[in-house]
Amino acid sequence: MRVSYHTHSHYDDGAGFLKDYVQRAIELNFGALGFSAHAPVPFETDWTLKQEDLSAYLKEAYDLKEEYAKKIQLYVGLEIDYISGMDVEIPEGLDYYISSVHHVRTKDRLIPVDGPFEMVSEGLKDCYNGDGKAYTKDYFSVLKEMINVRKPQLVGHLDLIKKNNRDQMIYKEEDTWYKEEVEKVLETVKKAGSIVEINTGGMSRKYVDTAYPSPWIIKIMKQMDIPVVLNSDAHNPMWLDTEYEQTELLLKKLGYQTQRVLIDGIWQDVAF
Ligand SMILES: [Zn+2]
Ligand SMILES: [Zn+2]
Repeated sequence: MRVSYHTHSHYDDGAGFLKDYVQRAIELNFGALGFSAHAPVPFETDWTLKQEDLSAYLKEAYDLKEEYAKKIQLYVGLEIDYISGMDVEIPEGLDYYISSVHHVRTKDRLIPVDGPFEMVSEGLKDCYNGDGKAYTKDYFSVLKEMINVRKPQLVGHLDLIKKNNRDQMIYKEEDTWYKEEVEKVLETVKKAGSIVEINTGGMSRKYVDTAYPSPWIIKIMKQMDIPVVLNSDAHNPMWLDTEYEQTELLLKKLGYQTQRVLIDGIWQDVAF
């Protein structure tokens, strides 16, 4: 069964209407589809829902859920930022939400982990004296804080930090300290009982060659028996299943026969 609970439309920083995603998911014979616009954050952005659009988004999503109930299971969610030291509201009445870290906050400055690259390298220079290790550790520290505080159902793009690590300019993924940081995050995930999404969004937008998280991390997750769900983080309805085939093969190779999906209103394990 294929699903994606991670999609972005014209409401935030994606393309297309919610209905376009529904039609594409039906075309692809998906078992379920979730809407996950970026929830509003306490500052101006060009990538989140506007606070005043939140209720329209939720209403449209719930209306579609009802309208299409006989054709496909739809779920209404949000991708909710966790920013250390800032209150980001978790609205009531959602079917689920994805909890994500997109920023590292230091010296009262927000560095957007997912770029653009110039902003990351500027922040790295100004706030960390170019110390990629310190910056990376801060990212994982916020991630652990998020998981501890929220105990979210779904953890978004666990190693998003690699998006701007082209040519290993920030850190080396093989380094022991990096592996240890990742393991500490996974222990936190395990304790919280969260699902880690396998996210192909960085691949469809050509930022990275493999899904978030990297294969060696998925391998450790399997050993720890951490549940996964394959999500596309699609910013265009055409990318709803991008890179699914090869990522499913990879997951099976790494030992995952099932994924944890929201079906009939319950998170349950089903075969890929
Ligand atoms: Zn995200
Ligand atoms: Zn997203």
